[in-house]
Amino acid sequence: MEVKSMDKVVSLCKRRGFIFQSSEIYGGLSNTWDYGPYGVELKNNLKRAWWKANVYERDDIYGMDAAILMHPKVWEASGHIDNFFDVMLDCNKCKKRFRIDQVQQKYPDKVVMETVTIEGKTCVQSQVIGTLKCFECDGELGMARKFNLMFKTFQGPVEDRANLLFMRPETAQGMFVNFSNVLDSRHPKLPFGLAQIGKAFRNEITPGNFTFRTREFEQMEIEYFVRPEDADKKLEEWVEARFGWYLNLGMTKENLRKRPHAKDELAHYAKACTDIEYNFSFGWSELEGIANRTDFDLKQHAAGSGKDLQYFNNVTNERFYPYIIEPSGGVDRSVLAFMVDSYSEEQVKNDIRVVLKLHKDLAPVKIAVLPLLRNRPEIVELAKKIAHDLKKSFVTVYDDTGAIGKLYRRQDEVGTLYCVTVDVQTLEDREVTVRDRDTMLQERIGIDRLKEYLSEKLS
Ligand code: ATP
Repeated sequence: MEVKSMDKVVSLCKRRGFIFQSSEIYGGLSNTWDYGPYGVELKNNLKRAWWKANVYERDDIYGMDAAILMHPKVWEASGHIDNFFDVMLDCNKCKKRFRIDQVQQKYPDKVVMETVTIEGKTCVQSQVIGTLKCFECDGELGMARKFNLMFKTFQGPVEDRANLLFMRPETAQGMFVNFSNVLDSRHPKLPFGLAQIGKAFRNEITPGNFTFRTREFEQMEIEYFVRPEDADKKLEEWVEARFGWYLNLGMTKENLRKRPHAKDELAHYAKACTDIEYNFSFGWSELEGIANRTDFDLKQHAAGSGKDLQYFNNVTNERFYPYIIEPSGGVDRSVLAFMVDSYSEEQVKNDIRVVLKLHKDLAPVKIAVLPLLRNRPEIVELAKKIAHDLKKSFVTVYDDTGAIGKLYRRQDEVGTLYCVTVDVQTLEDREVTVRDRDTMLQERIGIDRLKEYLSEKLS
């Protein structure tokens, strides 16, 4: 299967208004990105598709929107204060920073990484042997140091330790700490889940690959509470469901794979985890992780808060901590994967047609209305009126800033599904030409039937 180039997508993103460098007029803030007019539509469509599949179409999942800022004790209980760090080495000359796993890849004999179990928890310990040369200059790498990935901020005007807060590095904790609120207000029976989409922040040491790894990003996460004995089966079901979601939205099957984690790769809270990965030009990379988090989170928060976070089964009179299955995906990474995957170049006569073959639910614009002749006021007026009417039902744009061939190419590049063209003949027979993005086939449709015709196509 063809691995699509990232460079062309990055250039399309800027050229057509999907994604811009943040604060570009000031030289840009590195590895930080702003979604432009088409980008925000695509991103919203993706989030809507996720919410529809996981909240609206199921009976057992409740939506949530928790605050980004949380009580600092949350991060003690969750293990983020102690465990959410990368080990890194700094160059003493160029000051570049490298993660220990990158250093180990470069110097496999000089970095020993081993899995150890301390107080029942598995973790990876690393040791660097001797001094190592920098990757980028002739400097030397310094001592390996731990670097916590949480962004810090202060609540209120006094910037002291008592007012220290963290920007959440994952949305998950907002759902765990609301477990008993949902039980008390909605009285769900196991298994049930909470779903949330929101920003998360990680002070990544090596961000990069465009929007793939950034310090501010959006996550779409589900915390699915199950009886412990059902956890293994539910994990498998969720892996299939989540894999299917990407395929249903048109992702190429050969570019998507499931990768179960090896034991020594698991996070401190997880018993099992499978990643869904996309075959980017920089290698197979994670879009989503689906983990069995056991009862770790509820037990930790019960101990930290002193509140009883057990589930009570009033039929059997059992009280216990459910296990949690967590499908945790990245909005930005999915947007990027869908863009890369749908990007295609086709030879049309003597020209290359660039087209984003996005699924109809994801395409930022559904319809473009284009006048064939810009200098004929009756045509322009009618085209504007048609666009205005269609806007009430579909995301529609009007464009008269070029010749028709150029306008078609422009719409193809942003993935617009149908182009509606108004021409001289329209003034006589009240019919327009509707062009399909993928087949480029054209059909004449009466204006009075247009909305119904497009509704059928888009449903
Ligand atoms: P990675 O191994 O790539 O750093 P992770 O395993 O730490 O990812 P999780 O903690 O499982 O990631 O987060 C769930 C999802 O959030 C990821 O699958 C990814 O889609 C997204 N995500 C995590 N970190 C980032 C980031 N720095 N930039 C963009 N998306 C991210």
